[in-house]
Amino acid sequence: YFTSHTVAFLDGEFIPAEQATVGAYAQSLHYGYAVFEGIRAYHTPAGTRIFKPREHFERFHYSCQAIGLPLSYSVEELTEISYRLLELNQLQDAYIRPLAFAGAPNMSLKCPPAGNLLMAVWDWGKYLGDQSLRLTISPYERPNPKAVPIEAKVAGHYANSIIASTEAKSRGFDEALLLDMHGNVAEGPGANFFFERDGELFTPPAGSILRGITRNTIIDLAREAGIRVTETFFRPEELRTATGAFMTGTAAEVVGVAAIDDLVFDTPFADTLGAALARRYTALVTGQAVPAEPV
Ligand code: PMP
Repeated sequence: YFTSHTVAFLDGEFIPAEQATVGAYAQSLHYGYAVFEGIRAYHTPAGTRIFKPREHFERFHYSCQAIGLPLSYSVEELTEISYRLLELNQLQDAYIRPLAFAGAPNMSLKCPPAGNLLMAVWDWGKYLGDQSLRLTISPYERPNPKAVPIEAKVAGHYANSIIASTEAKSRGFDEALLLDMHGNVAEGPGANFFFERDGELFTPPAGSILRGITRNTIIDLAREAGIRVTETFFRPEELRTATGAFMTGTAAEVVGVAAIDDLVFDTPFADTLGAALARRYTALVTGQAVPAEPV
């Protein structure tokens, strides 16, 4: 993530990433009480461009508000800091990680009077790789939205993600697919889920998922191409009628699903709607003309 030359932003200053540290008594460290974002910048014909910075930094603000964590930087300031960091680190394609946290020594369960801000950038390939994934339905559910604000990107929620992902890998799968508290398919540990059937797309609605910015982008790209997208609750059994599936996320981008437990899709991912949308997504984020190919 960093070398001795990497620059990070911490509480108002651009500093060597090696010096961006927190104390062992930080409230966020003990209670998972922090908020983060995952954003990407792409090399485009017009230079380096952050994809949908407003959407990401607005969600960052929403997440902080949802848990009462103070954040004193505007969307515009956060965008400026990101571009400056990309420049200072000479990165064209990069992942951008803002983290709002409570760094003061504090063992209480009270919201802190002030927050801290770390911004880091690094070069990161597709998070789940390029190959279609073999998923497994996780024995762990996504957190109950009545227990935590599930639409906020809160650091502590990712204990659930790490546990589910690790468990899936321990059984030889690439990644987990988690259900919600009612037994409906929700999402992956760090990506949203879509399946396709008869030329249409289906994805779980808001409620027990992080409303992904990539998910929204894919829904828009699909509708522009005349593909019907339905946001609906569905059970894992319904996937038996699917002809393909994929996951979406800023870090993962669009990645195909080859199988879910013993259900193996006959159609290779490359021949699915998901693959055509993945090509459109790449064109969009890298500032190329969106392909005219019929989807
Ligand atoms: N769900 C979860 C749990 C995630 O962590 C992410 C990654 N931020 C996503 C979905 C996808 O969201 P986005 O497309 O905004 O990156």
